[in-house]
Parts: sequence; structure tokens; C-alpha cells
Amino acid sequence: METCSICGKKYKGYGNNARPVNDGRCCDDCNFKVVIPKRVEVSMGLGAHKKSDMKGW
Ligand SMILES: [Zn+2]
Repeated sequence: METCSICGKKYKGYGNNARPVNDGRCCDDCNFKVVIPKRVEVSMGLGAHKKSDMKGW
């Protein structure tokens, strides 16, 4: 059993890379609910200072 670095719960298996949320590993739940959305956010945030330009979307 491994401990999820995000929610602190124990999970089975290999887990997932928790980056960019943190440098540890996380459970599938957190991967889908936290890590993947964060990755999307980060990849879209390359022009973060332009975020206000996207408000009209
Ligand atoms: Zn978790």
C-alpha cells in the first residue's frame, strides 16, 4: 500500500505521478480529480498573465 500525497489515503498499485500538484505520488481518485485538471490549467496557463483576455469566452 502507498499513501496518496494529496488526500493522504492509502491506495493499491503504482499510483500516479502527482505533478504538478506535488512531487509525490497520488491515488487514481486524485489523479482524475486534482492532477489532470491541474495539468490542463498549467498547460493553458502558459500565458497566465493573459487570463483576463479569456474572460469573454
Ligand atoms: Zn488521493
